[in-house]
Amino acid sequence: MKGQLLQRQLAVYLRRNLHRNMLTQSETKELFRRADAVCFDVDSTVIKEEGIDELAIFCGVGDAVTEMTRQAMGGSITFKTALKERLSIIRCSREQVNKLITDHPPQLTPGIREVVERLHQRNIKVFLISGGFRCIVEHVATQLNIPLHHVYANRLKFYFNGEYAGFDESQPTAESGGKGKVISLLKEQYGLKTVVMIGDGATDLEASPPANAFVGFGGNVVRQEVKERSSWYITSFEELLEEMDKI
Ligand SMILES: [Mg+2]
Repeated sequence: MKGQLLQRQLAVYLRRNLHRNMLTQSETKELFRRADAVCFDVDSTVIKEEGIDELAIFCGVGDAVTEMTRQAMGGSITFKTALKERLSIIRCSREQVNKLITDHPPQLTPGIREVVERLHQRNIKVFLISGGFRCIVEHVATQLNIPLHHVYANRLKFYFNGEYAGFDESQPTAESGGKGKVISLLKEQYGLKTVVMIGDGATDLEASPPANAFVGFGGNVVRQEVKERSSWYITSFEELLEEMDKI
């Protein structure tokens, strides 16, 4: 009985992974061309930097936190634990976060403005799904004319006097696999048929499925594992624009 069950589970696993591996570059491009929604990761994708690292540098604890981010990316600890530990070092106040946004606003990756504009012109929904912080991601969304209810990110919490009070641990983006969870919710909520996820990191890659396709982005930083496992890997947003020209 147990053997049979294992065999069945293995078959399901192989079918799923076979399907994932079977998507060719041209199939991925085709799905991108007929997507009804495109979800973007934010850190090192839509913007050039990692928001949490910038926040840490701003708060004077850059080195310690950069090291933890590197470990988190490598997948040796859970996303939530890594986030909790990094934030417990940063302990930023509301005032510090606001000052970071004013003094060092996030830098948009070249070409993203045009990509989002073109998607909007075609009535394709654009979402930002980030493991970073809502207050920073909202600033990015505003610059790109993305409605704030299309932003999924983590929420920092502050005490009434503005001191750091933790983060909202109930947000799906605070969990490993959270981006995929958000995409499933979006599909259901908006009745989306074809959703494409674009990002630089392993958590973005793992959001497909449920995303119908994944486009790896190496315009700011190249993550070898993501590059190898992406059926379509781009190093600039111009490549997406070129693809949209073909429609
Ligand atoms: Mg990223």
